[in-house]
Amino acid sequence: MTTEAATIPTNPGQSDSEADWQTPTESQSLASASSPAQAGTYSDPTKRSIRWDYTIFFVTLHLLTLLVLLPYFFSWAGVAAFVIGVVVFGQLAIPIGYHRMLSHRSFRSPKWFERTLVTLAMCTAQETPAHWVAWHRMHHSHSDHAEDPHSPRISFVWAHVRWLVHESRTRMATFSMYEKYARDILSDPYYRWIEKLPSPAGMFYLAHAFVYALLAVGISMLVYGNNADAYQMAASVFVWGVIARTVWVWHITWSVNSFTHVFGYRNYQTTDDSRNNWFVSLLTAGEGWHNNHHADPASASVQHRWWEIDPNYYMIRLFGALGLATHIIRPRHVRKSGAES
Ligand SMILES: [Zn+2]
Ligand SMILES: [Zn+2]
Repeated sequence: MTTEAATIPTNPGQSDSEADWQTPTESQSLASASSPAQAGTYSDPTKRSIRWDYTIFFVTLHLLTLLVLLPYFFSWAGVAAFVIGVVVFGQLAIPIGYHRMLSHRSFRSPKWFERTLVTLAMCTAQETPAHWVAWHRMHHSHSDHAEDPHSPRISFVWAHVRWLVHESRTRMATFSMYEKYARDILSDPYYRWIEKLPSPAGMFYLAHAFVYALLAVGISMLVYGNNADAYQMAASVFVWGVIARTVWVWHITWSVNSFTHVFGYRNYQTTDDSRNNWFVSLLTAGEGWHNNHHADPASASVQHRWWEIDPNYYMIRLFGALGLATHIIRPRHVRKSGAES
């Protein structure tokens, strides 16, 4: 999924380390939860034209996901491929790679490992690193205000998926947007190269699906021989491990934009509508503690109470133990106490 309107800065610099997607101001942290988010300043983005290419792609993959209901496509190997895929793409790639590592720089990794996570994220049909990061930082800078790309104050469905299929991309993929929100991302030659490909997210997605299908067929034939059982197994693994997994990872990612700005409780009186939602946290390995995250976006951990379990952070700590993550930023109360970071 890409945009043809992108104009890429050729000499990007470093982002501001105290930018508001990392460290909210005191007023953001302390403001009243009931303060209105400039209601009425939206220019009704739902009136914008629909991107039919994206819409057809989304609908097609959802319809194909219904194949999991057919007994022909069921196998335990397929279920295993789904679960492993959700961990790899729905935990390592998007929440840890695109979100905590790239968008918030809450830890650092060796370049090869960072690029590996980004490459996996490119296999989720969720945009390029520069787009994903820029839109997410825009969300943090303007949460539930007029410039928020996906506030549920427009509508729940808008925040969940409609914002992706309406023509807001022209507005959100401009030179100034990149300059402001993604200069550090585009300072990496690999991410800049990705950005310059035609339909990069689509190309990566189809390429990964093709390789996945070849591997599924090859391994199935090794196990079963060249017969109908092998093709049935390969089809099962592909339907569960690619199609259903893609749609699932879409929805759990989108649910952070929709559910956790509507349903849940608040530990912090941020100026947005962010909520802590245990159900979304369960689905996303921790991303649902979203009010904690908005209050302290720089932190690699969103666990602010002992029972707000954050498996994504535990994974980051595991990466740290393996030498794959350094400079892991702790929650603000730990940082203020002078503990090591
Ligand atoms: Zn949010
Ligand atoms: Zn964030």
